[in-house]
Amino acid sequence: ERKAALSASSGPGATSDGHKVPLLANVGGPADVPAAVEAGAEGVGLFRTEFLFLDDSKKAPSEAKQVEAYRKVLEAFPEGRVVVRVLDAGADKPLDFLTPADEPNPALGVRGLRTLLDHPDVLRTQLTALAKAAAGLPVYLEVMAPMVADRTDAKAFADACREAGLNAKFGAMVEIPSAALRARSILQEVEFLSLGTNDLAQYTFAADRQVGAVSRLQDPWQPALLDLVAASAEAAKAEGKSCGVCGEAAADPLLACVLTGLGVTSLSMGAASIPYVRATLAKHTLAQCERAAAAARATDSAEEARVAAQAVLSGE
Ligand code: PEP
Ligand code: MG
Repeated sequence: ERKAALSASSGPGATSDGHKVPLLANVGGPADVPAAVEAGAEGVGLFRTEFLFLDDSKKAPSEAKQVEAYRKVLEAFPEGRVVVRVLDAGADKPLDFLTPADEPNPALGVRGLRTLLDHPDVLRTQLTALAKAAAGLPVYLEVMAPMVADRTDAKAFADACREAGLNAKFGAMVEIPSAALRARSILQEVEFLSLGTNDLAQYTFAADRQVGAVSRLQDPWQPALLDLVAASAEAAKAEGKSCGVCGEAAADPLLACVLTGLGVTSLSMGAASIPYVRATLAKHTLAQCERAAAAARATDSAEEARVAAQAVLSGE
C-alpha cells in the first residue's frame, strides 16, 4: 500500500488501471521551471511566451534574447515534451506595438494568431528563435498557435512553421467554439490540439473572463463546455492525433478525471496542482472516468455536473 501511495505521489500520470495521461506544467518562462521539475512534470504543456514581450512596449525582443529564454526551458526537460505557444497578444494581454488601440471589443478583435498573421515578421522571428533554441537538444518540441478559428488559420500557422524550418510538431489551440466544432478539419493541417478552456469558456458563453459578474458562466464544469471538449477529443482520436487540455480546468483533480474520461490525452496545469491531479487520477480506472464524464454531460448545470461526477467517482 505504501508503494502505491508513493507511486501516486511521483512518476507519470496514469489511471489506476494504467491508462497514461501525461501531466505537464504551464510555465511563463525559465523562472517557473524549477517548480515544474520539483512537481514531477513530464514536460511543459503550455509555455506562455508573452512574458518575453513585456519588457519593451515598442518592439519585439531580439531573436538572440528569445533563443536564450527558450533554450533554458527546453534544456530542463531532456527527453520530455515542451509545448511552446507562440505569442498571444491582444484582448487581456495587449501589446502597444501590436494591438490595435481602438477596438470596441478587444476579445473579439485582433488577438492571438490574428495578431501574428498581421505581423509576419514577429511570428517569423519567434519561430526561427525556437528552431535555433531546440537545435541539438533531445527534447520533443511542439509549437502551437493561440486562437485558431478554422482550417485557414491552422494552415497559415503550419505554413509559417515550415517556412521557418522548424523541426517540431505544429498544433492548434482550441479556444473558439468553431475550432471545436470543426476540429477534424483543423487536424488536416496540424498534428495536435490543445484545449484552452479559459478562453473556450469565455467564447462559448459570451462571458468575458475579466468580468467577475459573469464568472458563473466561466465555470469549466458547464456541460456545454464538456461537450466541446468531447467533440475535440473525439476528432483527434478519429485522426489518430492527440488532444490535451492546458486551461485551468486541468488543475481541478475531479475535473481532470472527467476530462480523461472524455478522451483528453494530456493535462497541463500550474505546477502546484500536479501532485493533486496525479493522486486523484491514480485512484480511478479509465472506465470510471468515462462513466463520470458521461454522468457530468447528462446534467444541465456546472453544479449538477460536479455532483454527478463526484458520485460516480466515489462509488455511490
Ligand atoms: C486558455 O485560454 O485556456 C489558455 C490556456 O490560454 P490563456 O489562459 O493564456 O489565454
Ligand atoms: Mg487562451
